Amino acid sequence: MKVCWMYHDIMDLYGDKGNIMTLKKRCLDRGIGFDLHTCGIGQQDDLSTYDLIFLGGGADKEQISLIPDLLQRKENIQKAMDENTFILLICGGYQLFGQYYIAANGEKIAGLGFYPYYTDTGKMGSRCIGNIVIDAQLDEIHTKIIGFENHGGQTLGVTKPLGKVLSGYGNAFDAGFEGFYDGKVLGTYLHGPLLPKNPDVADFVIYKALKKRNPNMQFKDLTPLTNPYDQAAREVLLTRMHIEEDK
Ligand code: GLN
Repeated sequence: MKVCWMYHDIMDLYGDKGNIMTLKKRCLDRGIGFDLHTCGIGQQDDLSTYDLIFLGGGADKEQISLIPDLLQRKENIQKAMDENTFILLICGGYQLFGQYYIAANGEKIAGLGFYPYYTDTGKMGSRCIGNIVIDAQLDEIHTKIIGFENHGGQTLGVTKPLGKVLSGYGNAFDAGFEGFYDGKVLGTYLHGPLLPKNPDVADFVIYKALKKRNPNMQFKDLTPLTNPYDQAAREVLLTRMHIEEDK
């Protein structure tokens, strides 16, 4: 699986790098090669050659610093999407695929504009902070996704949310829904990081990435990996939030 971690040196909040570590471990445990590349500001790369593109979260300052570079990659990212590269976006990365993001200082940061959603700033510096659980449908997989959110941005106009909020905030203080998922791009505010707490989401991302080169592949073709600690950790977190795991 050929993976590009974009802006790895600046977009890595709340352990987003743990997402990459989880993908790597779950690939290697199955004997799937994990070919990790990074792409920083100014670095030439054809993003359409990857099976998976990952972009993590960042502070406003970091988002502002990378946006000129990201915008000039728009055509290449579109090509990657057209050629079925799967894209995983966390928080600040998720915001930048929409129309715009208004930073806490009022500065309007242009987004790539792939989707109609846009991100306003929290009023008087208010931020959505805390643990969060959502009920999500990822193609045929139904799961509860656990994470931690910390964003001032209030994302509005999301036509295809990733899930319904069971505990926490989500796209905005009173949104009721969290993230974005359209079959090709998964954007979410969930850090913490996302994938170690949600092994089924990690496997789903691996499956979608491998599908680029194996269009007939199905989720059930991935060898199951069982680790009792993953499940025990999920149960502790869900119990804290008074939510039951799906059986
Ligand atoms: N700077 C953005 C916000 O506050 C994104 C933060 C993040 O990636 N956690 O909304």
